[in-house]
Amino acid sequence: MIYNQKGFKVEKGLITLSHKYNKVPLAFEIPENYVFGKVYQVSIFYDGDNYYLSVVHEVPEESYLDNGLYQAIDLGITKTVTAINTHGMFHEVNNPRPDKYWNPKIDAIQSKRDHCKKGSRHWKQLHKAMNKRIKKRKNQIKDIQHKQTRKMVNNTRANTIIVGDLDVKEMPKSKKATSGLNRSTQNNGYISRFIRFLTYKAALAGKKVIEIDERNTSKRCYVCGKEHDMPLWKRTMECDCGNVIDRDRNSAINIMLRYLSQNARWQGYQQFVDNLRKTGLSVPKLEVHSQEAPSAREG
Ligand SMILES: [Zn+2]
Repeated sequence: MIYNQKGFKVEKGLITLSHKYNKVPLAFEIPENYVFGKVYQVSIFYDGDNYYLSVVHEVPEESYLDNGLYQAIDLGITKTVTAINTHGMFHEVNNPRPDKYWNPKIDAIQSKRDHCKKGSRHWKQLHKAMNKRIKKRKNQIKDIQHKQTRKMVNNTRANTIIVGDLDVKEMPKSKKATSGLNRSTQNNGYISRFIRFLTYKAALAGKKVIEIDERNTSKRCYVCGKEHDMPLWKRTMECDCGNVIDRDRNSAINIMLRYLSQNARWQGYQQFVDNLRKTGLSVPKLEVHSQEAPSAREG
């Protein structure tokens, strides 16, 4: 059912419809992570289990201004999302991964279902049970991503947020070829949605998400540039140059350095390196960038 201008009211965190059900007005709470501009239309859907409200609204975007503060994010496909800002401070967000909880349960039901005659009563029961859990998994992940991306945008003063480009994300290799492949495609989906959420939430706050090529950012020691074999189980990078650092932190620093150097933000680059030094971290030994810096500033 569709409601236009006169059919609904948006106020006090509620969408109230002009329709009443058994004399009770129909009011829907607006989840706290939604920001609506002008609302044009509200429709109600029913998918057999749940009722959904679909809202067509204006997106009140703020205009973006590079404020000289940056945040680089490594989207860990395992445990955490690691961010570093221009001040050299790390910020880590745990990734609870409800899929890890649901995947084996879903697999078990699917396997049971596949042993039944397709379309039989038992098959249908199991099929329904499986879909219910798939839906739960999906909703929980989506919910977490909404919360995480909102926090990431709100908790940084940086107006520019840099993330690695998904296309070149090094995916984990699994022994179980098929399910491994499916699961990493699924991971890909989660990450691309995370970036999508982050991008539109940032735009609402006048910030910008920039995707850069993150090739080798997890393999390369940010201090000396040497590349290491870094299978996913290896959580720490230990380099001969003396750099010992958490793998995700190393990636985040590389993403920041790459963005600042490729975009000739030499002042930002230099500030970032100085701040790394102040926080007690090693600084990149490659002098290429700082040598180019003066001429870039003069020009
Ligand atoms: Zn090194």
